[in-house]
Amino acid sequence: MDLTDRSSHTMLDELATRLHGELVRPGDAAYDEVRKVYNGMVDLHPVAIAECVDAADVVSCVDHARDHAVPLAVRGGGHNPSGLSVADGALVIDLRRLRQVAVEPSTRTVRVGGGCIWKDVDAATVEHGLVVPSGIASDTGVGGLTLGGGTGYHTRLLGLTIDSLLSAEVVLSDGSAVTASPSSHPDLFWALRGGGGNFGVVTSFEFRGHPVGEHGTIYAGPVFYELSEAAELFVWFRDRQPELPRDLNVWLGLVTVPGGDPFPPELWDRTMAVLVWCYDGPHDKVEVALAVTHEFGHPAMHAVLPMRFPDLNSMFDAIYPPGLQWYWRGDFFDEISDDAIAVHLHHASSPPSSRSTMHLYPIDGAAADVAPEATAFAYRGSSWNGVIVAVDDDPSRAPELAAWTKEYWAALHPTSTGGGYVNYLMDEPEDRVRASFGANYARLQEVKRAYDPDNLFHLNQNIPPT
Ligand SMILES: Cc1cc2nc3c(=O)[nH]c(=O)nc-3n(C[C@H](O)[C@H](O)[C@H](O)COP(=O)(O)OP(=O)(O)OC[C@H]3O[C@@H](n4cnc5c(N)ncnc54)[C@H](O)[C@@H]3O)c2cc1C
Repeated sequence: MDLTDRSSHTMLDELATRLHGELVRPGDAAYDEVRKVYNGMVDLHPVAIAECVDAADVVSCVDHARDHAVPLAVRGGGHNPSGLSVADGALVIDLRRLRQVAVEPSTRTVRVGGGCIWKDVDAATVEHGLVVPSGIASDTGVGGLTLGGGTGYHTRLLGLTIDSLLSAEVVLSDGSAVTASPSSHPDLFWALRGGGGNFGVVTSFEFRGHPVGEHGTIYAGPVFYELSEAAELFVWFRDRQPELPRDLNVWLGLVTVPGGDPFPPELWDRTMAVLVWCYDGPHDKVEVALAVTHEFGHPAMHAVLPMRFPDLNSMFDAIYPPGLQWYWRGDFFDEISDDAIAVHLHHASSPPSSRSTMHLYPIDGAAADVAPEATAFAYRGSSWNGVIVAVDDDPSRAPELAAWTKEYWAALHPTSTGGGYVNYLMDEPEDRVRASFGANYARLQEVKRAYDPDNLFHLNQNIPPT
């Protein structure tokens, strides 16, 4: 849409009068603030940002974008580093005002607004001793994380986030609002569970809540190791992690220890290996369960402690505030080969910044009980979801961050399954997106043809209908 075009302005004026929320445009005082997303590298100028307050607003925006051929972006938490929730010249459906969470304890169901972040959900569910499986950071959006699949601290015990999704309210490309569930639009419901934002705008999610901890308490936290022990730690992790009981989740990372509390000064600013544990099981078995956290090597810091789930899920939020420069890439891995370990140690031991890191999250246990074709998330057979992340606060270092990530990823990729988690893709080509949807791509394309034949929802890791 041409910003200087008078009719464009008139059309947007009409949209503004139809909305119950605000339409923020270039020149408005709030414009520069609301167009920002989590990744500070993303500096894009949409034609307007619609701060939707209800599903009717979302319908108005979808109708406007379709009828006037305006590119349409959908912003959930705005947290995805790819920056796909905003675009130059696009109309942005901003869901941040759809932030309601309603918990029904008698049925253990949790209804979540399409613009919520996980912190909203954690705060509401913990009051009822419940959890909805999410990721490892509580300021990520529910929308993007869920539509991509969702791996986190409860993956081994409760499955992916999508395995707890009961239904979704969706605005489709033709402007209709439907419920997707096993009995209503089942193909759409299948595609929403792992197919990303390709199929419509989810204004509300309904999840199954699960009891968490005993009296709300879990045991969780990091155990750090010297880099000199990292090679052996990788071997221990690849052999032992799959054998662990499901109520014990652990992911492996290569990180630089932040300078400050609660870390001992001798570890500050040092690149180390870490295991981050989460035990969500009976307390009378906690000593036996956590014995394995002492099994390997010589921990430089062991901090597995009793806590409530929201404290664990927000543990990394302060280290990664909004506005930093982010570049990342990921892949799924069936095995952690010796070659892969050598690549990790070579690249991760000299990160471009203290916030740069590599994580390997398990996707076995309950996540692997579900067949890979039962939802759009194709890589349930893989054992680990890996991500390489370069982060810094200095915008001038953006090229260096991207170069490190790409080089590390290129060296590691031959040891992967060939596809990556859709939520960890960056600016990657179509064949890479295709590989990431794996064996489910053809069916996803069919569902796309049925629900969005003109590809109105294309600002995402896109599945073109043809
Ligand atoms: C610090 C950090 C930690 C993370 N940890 C994890 C983790 O542990 N596990 C994990 O699985 N992922 C994790 N992620 C990745 C995360 O799942 C993605 O970044 C996800 O896309 C964030 O969701 P969002 O709603 O904030 O995204 P946005 O940036 O708002 O959107 C991303 C995509 O989803 C679409 N979208 C978002 N909401 C909706 C909606 N309601 N309806 C339709 N389309 C929608 C957008 O159009 C866009 O294409 C992490 C990300 C970060 C930055």
